[in-house]
Amino acid sequence: MKYTSTRSKITPINSAEAILQGLAEDGGLFVPEKIPKVSLEEIDALKEKSYEERSAWLLGKFLTDYKDYELGECTELAYNWFDITARVPVAILIQDPKNPVAPVGSMELWHGPTSAFKDVALQMLPHLMRMALKKVGETKDILILVATSGDTGKAALAGFADVPQTKIMVFYPEEGVSKIQKLQMITQRGKNVNVTAVKGNFDDAQNGVKKIFNDKKIRDELDKLNVKLSSANSINWGRLVPQIAYYFSGYVELLKAKQVELGDKIIISVPTGNFGNILAAYYALKMGLPVKKLICASNVNNVLTEFFATGVYNRNRTFFKTITPSMDILISSNLERLLYHETDGNYKLISRYMNELNTLGKYKVDKKLKTRLDKIFYAEYVTEDETREFIKRVYDSFGYLLDTHSAVSICALSKYRGKTKDFTPILSASTASPYKFTGAVLTALGQSIDGVDDFAQLKMLNNLTNAKIPRNLAELSDAEILHEDVCNKDEMADRVLKFAAK
Ligand SMILES: *Cc1c(COP(=O)(O)O)cnc(C)c1O
Repeated sequence: MKYTSTRSKITPINSAEAILQGLAEDGGLFVPEKIPKVSLEEIDALKEKSYEERSAWLLGKFLTDYKDYELGECTELAYNWFDITARVPVAILIQDPKNPVAPVGSMELWHGPTSAFKDVALQMLPHLMRMALKKVGETKDILILVATSGDTGKAALAGFADVPQTKIMVFYPEEGVSKIQKLQMITQRGKNVNVTAVKGNFDDAQNGVKKIFNDKKIRDELDKLNVKLSSANSINWGRLVPQIAYYFSGYVELLKAKQVELGDKIIISVPTGNFGNILAAYYALKMGLPVKKLICASNVNNVLTEFFATGVYNRNRTFFKTITPSMDILISSNLERLLYHETDGNYKLISRYMNELNTLGKYKVDKKLKTRLDKIFYAEYVTEDETREFIKRVYDSFGYLLDTHSAVSICALSKYRGKTKDFTPILSASTASPYKFTGAVLTALGQSIDGVDDFAQLKMLNNLTNAKIPRNLAELSDAEILHEDVCNKDEMADRVLKFAAK
């Protein structure tokens, strides 16, 4: 299987190269030339397999330049840190007690080392990269640079820590992250990791990192140190492909729980930000997973809801900070891949849309494309009050605790059912542990958190609900602090060179 760009006709490359390059030279994203097909028999056979084996099977469909034993090794190393053996379990909720044939499966993607769904891919990417370096004959180390507003930084650190031939350096805004997020990062172990606070806000950290990527002088100096810069952001194909696996696994869990029969269609609902997670569900659908509809759930930053309703993507709008911060996004980068596939690879048209997005801040898709998207997607957005209401309602009804993002998905699918009276079984992506957003969850449950600090909140939620505190958060208050460096934004490049020379 070869990969091409969404924006021009390039000489197709294999997956190892796509994973190392991240972004195509024309600014486009790498996409598979053809989407592989799977049969119902293959899906049925996954029933007897572990999550690691299911994942390796799926990776093998796309990463054909990797050997089976290599993919097996990647999935073992990626998922042995997940705190339950099922890795990605599905909890069955019956959404409407009067209608027991309408189950909702909550697919828990947050049993990894940082308690959020990005672990599923970020635990895998470093191993895919390390093997890719060997495949292309690259002997330099790669240095992953990350600017983070909190969660991605820790997930990337946890993934890359002590992975051979890689180094990782994370910059975070000194005052811009929560106490728990900061502690998670500055206690990170590993010989190849560095965490540095930047005096300023997230934009300062991000602009600093962008500047370093674009600075030829720094790249040349790093070259002399035998180090090559790279990024781990969510448009990398190596982050997307591990996500496709769990939709197959989730379907198989519904089969095993006798909620569906082989071949029955399901609906998948996904709380969406950068459009990576739901795009993985789209690939699963295109491969032959029986899926009737994809529900794109957004918060009040509802640029995608409007896009699917009108065909106009318009980023010129007010930006809201919400209790679902991982969905506070106005440019959903991975949407570009969907548009490419649904125009049968019309890279000229995609180039034009992306150019308009860049210069005008908006574009409108043509009728033909809009009609095709309508067949697959249903989009809905959810207010903050509704999000809190659903956390409480689902907890009261089922004793099941949702984080804010996962509640957006459940609320959106409930609106879908209300409007369409379609009671097809639904698989809903649950993207974070409730303990990742403890304050908002406590508030939703009617508790006052005035003056209660982050750690006391964990205990408070535990006392209230008995839900287990994830190990990584429970152990945090006693962990040793290993990274205390703080720098000005104009000192970031220096810090990178110093770390690279270590
Ligand atoms: C990143 C994230 C999302 C959004 O996923 P995308 O792939 O960016 O659409 C949703 N929920 C949580 C908790 C996240 O961390």
